[in-house]
Amino acid sequence: MHNVVILGSGCAGNTAAIYTARAGLKPLVLMGKEPGGQLSITSEVENFPGFPEGILGPQLVENMKLQAERFGAEFRLGEVVGADLSRRPFRLSVDGEWIETSTLIVATGASARWLGIAGEKDLIGKGVSSCATCDGFFYRGKKIMVVGGGDSAMEEANFLTRFSDVMLVHRREEFRASKIMIDRVKANPKVKMVLNTVVDEVLAHETGIVGGARMRNVKTGETWTEEVDGFFVAIGHIPNTKPFAGQLDMDEEGYLISHGGARTNIAGVFHAGDVQDRHYRQAITASGAGCMAAMEAERFLEAEGH
Ligand code: NDP
Repeated sequence: MHNVVILGSGCAGNTAAIYTARAGLKPLVLMGKEPGGQLSITSEVENFPGFPEGILGPQLVENMKLQAERFGAEFRLGEVVGADLSRRPFRLSVDGEWIETSTLIVATGASARWLGIAGEKDLIGKGVSSCATCDGFFYRGKKIMVVGGGDSAMEEANFLTRFSDVMLVHRREEFRASKIMIDRVKANPKVKMVLNTVVDEVLAHETGIVGGARMRNVKTGETWTEEVDGFFVAIGHIPNTKPFAGQLDMDEEGYLISHGGARTNIAGVFHAGDVQDRHYRQAITASGAGCMAAMEAERFLEAEGH
């Protein structure tokens, strides 16, 4: 049986691993369906303190993992598909095996949200993508569309202009993104903004790859078709909390509800990072939350005479 199992290997999980490993708790980190979390699919991180020149996202998260391993954390590939948190030890179903643990840190993060429009799901990997840094390269000189109005959409639109001109489609006139990100996009002559507009369908060529998008202006009702090769969706994320439904308190969107500090409604189960945080969602706040969860798990075990 483990002292601490940490679910997720993004900034939150890896920081929790560093702290619990240094406390001698020999944590097991189950790396989840997206090892390295969201940083593993970003490019440059400019706002993580301590890196004045910036650092690549995958490098930053790999550094954290190496740091945790140095103190004895064990990392294992695997995703929890079921959990029994009704009694201790807690039990987790991973790859057909049950793992038992005295305490649990849920740092499962959040995954890309999709539009849910016709054509989208079928064409994922065939022109539809949620990750510009992963897939942008394939659309050099092609027609690229980005949907969204937050910082992710701005970042992706800017990044993708390395490869081609970009059409940025947003359903409103105002952007949710921060001013600095909007200004960068506005200053980039390779980005064309199409506002008050939604995409109703992603269209496929006869060859089965993305060929276009059916557009609609929500103010005028006008509809038209754009030619598109790369269709990038950047409209936010959904928390990964499915295995804990009915056991851990969550809000209507599935984000875990904090019961003070890093505590959930179940004693011995703690939360860290984007799985609970719908407001800040930064690498540094996720790391901070991982630290809090680790310290609480440590104190919890200590109070039990561990
Ligand atoms: P956000 O939730 O901030 O923005 C989502 C955007 O997608 C909104 O503009 C929203 O429109 C739009 N949207 C949502 N659903 C739909 C839909 N069904 N159809 C059309 N449009 C839709 O998510 P982000 O991923 O952009 O950002 C998440 C967090 O990460 C933020 O805190 C952000 O600051 C941060 N971030 C920071 C970066 C940086 O600093 N370098 C880079 C990337 C992200 P509407 O506004 O109308 O609701």
